[in-house]
Amino acid sequence: MSEPFWKTKTLDEMSDAEWESLCDGCGLCCMHKVEDESSGDIYYTNLACRLFDLKTCKCSDYSNRTKEVPDCMSLRQNKYKDFNWLPGSCAYRRLSNGQDLLDWHPLVSGDPNTVHRADISVLGKVLSEKDTNEWTVAQKLDEP
Ligand code: SF4
Ligand code: SF4
Repeated sequence: MSEPFWKTKTLDEMSDAEWESLCDGCGLCCMHKVEDESSGDIYYTNLACRLFDLKTCKCSDYSNRTKEVPDCMSLRQNKYKDFNWLPGSCAYRRLSNGQDLLDWHPLVSGDPNTVHRADISVLGKVLSEKDTNEWTVAQKLDEP
């Protein structure tokens, strides 16, 4: 058996399709974040970007996302290659830090729903900024 592409290629060497398949669909990067000014710690809130579809746990307009939401970053065009603002579970952060994918990742499990069953994703846990301005802190961003 040959090794899967994420073990043999760098992030830069991956095709667009391979790159996109690394996203596990957790939705965490689509949550608004807040910073504790005294400690500098970053926290994810439970409030999702207005384009985030709460039912599918995905962006509702992925191809136009950076035009629609100027703060939305195209990870592939992230010139600094710093993925440490993403959750510790995120494949881009893990691979860029020399870590492997975890067993619930859809590329490993072969099932797109394992990210939800493993309680990694935000599915069913968050609100949309389209519906409310109220938010609470959901989880602290893992340290780099
Ligand atoms: S945090 Fe990473 S794996 Fe999760 S949705 Fe964002 S890019 Fe995809
Ligand atoms: S525009 Fe789409 S991909 Fe970007 S943060 Fe919002 S929901 Fe996520």
